[in-house]
Amino acid sequence: MGKTSGPFSIVFGFRAFSVLARHVMGAVVEFLHSVLVNCAEIWDTCIMAFTSNLLVLEHSPLVIIYRKGSTIISRTPIHSQLKDGIWGIMPTCPNRDCPTQAGDVFSKTHKVKKALAHTRASWTCKHCGRTSAPFEKPEWVQEAPHP
Ligand SMILES: [Zn+2]
Repeated sequence: MGKTSGPFSIVFGFRAFSVLARHVMGAVVEFLHSVLVNCAEIWDTCIMAFTSNLLVLEHSPLVIIYRKGSTIISRTPIHSQLKDGIWGIMPTCPNRDCPTQAGDVFSKTHKVKKALAHTRASWTCKHCGRTSAPFEKPEWVQEAPHP
């Protein structure tokens, strides 16, 4: 979509294999209205519009690319699925020779200071039974404030 001069102002897309418009259009309209009509700040508006109803990001991760001054910013708001891909990262089998199938590998969260946390995880493969060493949430994954 082009709002001002230049190749684009905002590009966004949904990453799921199939996306049902009725699940996401409400948030898209809210986002576009705030940004284009009220000239609201793009990232804050994106978080507000796409996280106020958890079902939207549960349905599909979002990719948003926009320009801030002369910088192009690309970000991916996701709903972290504890089992099927914590922090939006596709789980892979720790055993490189394993002929794993889709759905074989799942993530598991670990306790930090005796409490189950969303900051440490490992991957377990049903196919070969192997579990990766626990790993910490990468620095580039940031929690969005929930409105
Ligand atoms: Zn495996």
